[in-house]
Amino acid sequence: MTQSQGDQTTAPGTALVVGSCTDKGRVRNANEDSHSTGDRLVIVADGLGGHNAGDVASRIAVKTAIGAVPPGLEDPAAFGRHLQEANRAVWEAAAADPSLTGMGTTITAALLVPGTETKVFVANVGDSRTYIYRDGDLIQVSVDHTVAQEMVDNGELTAEEAREHPRGHMMTRALGVEPHVKVDVFVVPVRTGDRVLLCSDGLTNEVNDEDIAEALWRHRDPQECARRLVALANDNGGHDNITAVVADVRVAAARD
Ligand code: MN
Repeated sequence: MTQSQGDQTTAPGTALVVGSCTDKGRVRNANEDSHSTGDRLVIVADGLGGHNAGDVASRIAVKTAIGAVPPGLEDPAAFGRHLQEANRAVWEAAAADPSLTGMGTTITAALLVPGTETKVFVANVGDSRTYIYRDGDLIQVSVDHTVAQEMVDNGELTAEEAREHPRGHMMTRALGVEPHVKVDVFVVPVRTGDRVLLCSDGLTNEVNDEDIAEALWRHRDPQECARRLVALANDNGGHDNITAVVADVRVAAARD
């Protein structure tokens, strides 16, 4: 059967093709990271709080964020506002149960926004990260909310010195610990072939950017790539829970 013009009944093929892997690492007893792998919205959250409260916080944040972000979103500020609902849900759950007092979570989320120029909106609170990998270059999009990042921003330390600072990993912002949180949102134009990597600090504290970039280059299948990244973190110590979500951008060819 030959294809005829005007016979396009399927939805436009712009989507994320996603692989993911999460592991508790080699030291921790439980995995308090959560993630999701939609074909337009991908999320990583790294829970904070004692006695598995962090696990509750990260799961509530991811679940709420998935439900809060409506289809057809085109305004980056609105993306940030919808993620406030995740903050509110974690905050309210903590207030309602004394065993969950003080829990919180990081969140980083990437939303594919198709259009004449396809974009990804990247949101971030805390130290989980979103990167874009394009043509061999690994570009960190999100900016950590940590003492180390603050010291670098203030010109007190170089990035290398900040890495070694004893309080460097302390977070300056987290989701769910206050009734309102500032969510940073970045807009990145994307094209077919770009890869989006979301990860918890269990990856980035163990594996340097060069080795992450090499794995993204070497393993073209996103699922295999995510598994390899987590294995690298475990090989280097696995001191924390590790989550990697690899999302390949597919932009449908323009029809005319
Ligand atoms: Mn972590």
